Amino acid sequence: MNTFYALWGVKTPEEAQAIIEKQKQEAGITDPKNLEEQAISLVGKDIYEILIKEYTEKQWGRKCTELPAFIIKRLPVRFTFDNNYFNDAYQGIPIGGYNKLIDGLLDGIETRCHTDFFENREYFENIAEKIVFSGKIDEFYNYQFGKLEYRTVRFETEILDCPNFQGNAVINYTEKEIPYTRIIEHKHFEFGIQPKTVISKEYASEWQEGSEPMYPVNDEKNNALYRQYKILADKERNITFGGRLAEYKYYDMDKIVEQGLKISI
Ligand SMILES: Cc1cc2nc3c(=O)[nH]c(=O)nc-3n(C[C@H](O)[C@H](O)[C@H](O)COP(=O)(O)OP(=O)(O)OC[C@H]3O[C@@H](n4cnc5c(N)ncnc54)[C@H](O)[C@@H]3O)c2cc1C
Repeated sequence: MNTFYALWGVKTPEEAQAIIEKQKQEAGITDPKNLEEQAISLVGKDIYEILIKEYTEKQWGRKCTELPAFIIKRLPVRFTFDNNYFNDAYQGIPIGGYNKLIDGLLDGIETRCHTDFFENREYFENIAEKIVFSGKIDEFYNYQFGKLEYRTVRFETEILDCPNFQGNAVINYTEKEIPYTRIIEHKHFEFGIQPKTVISKEYASEWQEGSEPMYPVNDEKNNALYRQYKILADKERNITFGGRLAEYKYYDMDKIVEQGLKISI
């Protein structure tokens, strides 16, 4: 509702819904052929153009008219004055950050960092009866059917000589003129009151060898390729494929923790 007020000056859910409904009708899209048409048919032209179009194009490096409609089956729209992005009852990060949580979980367990499974594959495959593999599934099978595409993010981090740069942990920049997609101001995750502040600008780009693969590109072409690898993975007895790279699926943290607890090894 804060957004709708800033956009159109409306103050009630009814007024906001009426504008969206009118724009949906005006667009008259019954059979959306791409992401642009799908988004307009869901939320109307204004929200699509101001909040979705250029941000999505930066994030995916592809035009919305060239992205498939099925990527956004629905767009969650909330008619309340709550500015939180998600509807979850609890939001935040573990106290002290994820490193502290992972350190605690791995306490007393032999752990090797900066170690690539593929650099010593034979050795790793023979030191345990079971393997949970969380790397790229296409690499695991030597790219035999071809390479899956991933998106990555480059972070540009700065320390600023001010206590509060943007007043929030995450601000998204939806316009194409600004090359980054968002700025993270880390201290706000933990309600920091330090005299300086650390910010990271996020630049989205296509994944290339040497960078960290982050997001699967779940279009039809890549999903079909993944399914070929999945057939091989399903036949493995001692290897469990888990996570966004091995299952070629986008997960949020809560969902990946849930999946980790559910998975049977
Ligand atoms: C920029 C960014 C922002 C995000 N923000 C949020 C957010 O605000 N909220 C939210 O809920 N989620 C967020 N996520 C998603 C969240 O990070 C993922 O849901 C979570 O990390 C997925 O866990 P995973 O185990 O699948 O993969 P990962 O956390 O990536 O774990 C996979 C592990 O496998 C290791 N690995 C891969 N290949 C090899 C190899 N060859 N040899 C050895 N090790 C290997 C990697 O180093 C990594 O440690 C964000 C993700 C990104 C990229």
